[in-house]
Amino acid sequence: MGAEPKKQIFENYPAWVVLAANAQAISIYLLGAVIMAHLGIWAMTAYLAMCLFLEVKLLATGCVHCYYFGKLCFSGKGIVSSWFFKKGAPEVLAKRVVTWKELVPDMLVALLPAGAAVFLLIRDFQWLVLGLLIGVLVLAFPVSGFIRGTQACCHCRQRELGCPAEKLFRPEARQGHN
Ligand code: SF4
Repeated sequence: MGAEPKKQIFENYPAWVVLAANAQAISIYLLGAVIMAHLGIWAMTAYLAMCLFLEVKLLATGCVHCYYFGKLCFSGKGIVSSWFFKKGAPEVLAKRVVTWKELVPDMLVALLPAGAAVFLLIRDFQWLVLGLLIGVLVLAFPVSGFIRGTQACCHCRQRELGCPAEKLFRPEARQGHN
């Protein structure tokens, strides 16, 4: 097989990519919240608080060190981060190493409502809950993979500078960028 053709690197991503990425993320939060609401308002509130915490943590500890700080990255968080936080150092993100264990909280955004849905279905089957479960899983895996794979990471300057997620998911790509 030949080498992957080089994709255009964006300084600012097209608005439709930002809209698609946010629609995907917000849809997971909403579907997840509806699933958790079947367990009780406390579960839904705790879930949404966790999502908010993870978003703020990413803005404060990841986006501040990203090349796209103050620019329109695929998720729009580079600009949002610059409204609330000071610019960090790009080399911090480039050198950061992320492990699967550290990714567990982020994965819980989809896996927690998915697990809750399975529990609810075993307890009392409902087509609505099954539909919500399928929706969360499709959005969190194939749709997320499609957006990142075809519209986000392949056009990303930070990927070339060094991205912890890229190193984790595609360790073979490290040599290509370094
Ligand atoms: S390569 Fe890394 S920094 Fe760039 S869009 Fe993908 S995950 Fe984000």
